[in-house]
Amino acid sequence: MSDTDPDRRVRHETWMRRALAVAASEGSSVPGSGSLDVPVGAVVYGPDGDELAFGRNERELTGDPAAHAEIVALRRAALRLGGWRLDACTLVVTLEPCTMCAGALVLARVSTLVFGAWEPKTGAVGSLWDVVRDARLNHRTEVYAGVLKDECAALVREFFTPQRHPPRRPPTPPGSPSI
Ligand SMILES: [Zn+2]
Repeated sequence: MSDTDPDRRVRHETWMRRALAVAASEGSSVPGSGSLDVPVGAVVYGPDGDELAFGRNERELTGDPAAHAEIVALRRAALRLGGWRLDACTLVVTLEPCTMCAGALVLARVSTLVFGAWEPKTGAVGSLWDVVRDARLNHRTEVYAGVLKDECAALVREFFTPQRHPPRRPPTPPGSPSI
């Protein structure tokens, strides 16, 4: 899980900063923006490192229970590539994926997952389950965890700080997103 290749680590951090920017982008969950969506951002990079697609958590915005950042980004990337197979692609996301998103990563054959903060309540890439590396599945994803984890966690923590969202705070304790 720890990355000893300095070039790769720098690349992953650069990509994670992009995912953080997506998470905090206009219309999502920036404090004061009026959105109830937890700020999570995801970006899909192609085999050559080009950005294919991005997505942010839009569950509240769209009313779609599957509109997690990873799903939004994977769907857009598949549309752009013209097919569902995203092998040799990398998905970068600010928060440890849930079971749905981890399952989607496997089904899309995503080769590499880079995520930021751990999500001990719902995480399915090592916290509660490890869906993407389950030996019973016919595809396993390479995982790099904890990239810029403090910044990624801070973004979510700020969202759940009561004074930032006094009238519309979701009924979840601080630091405990349930997406
Ligand atoms: Zn998810």
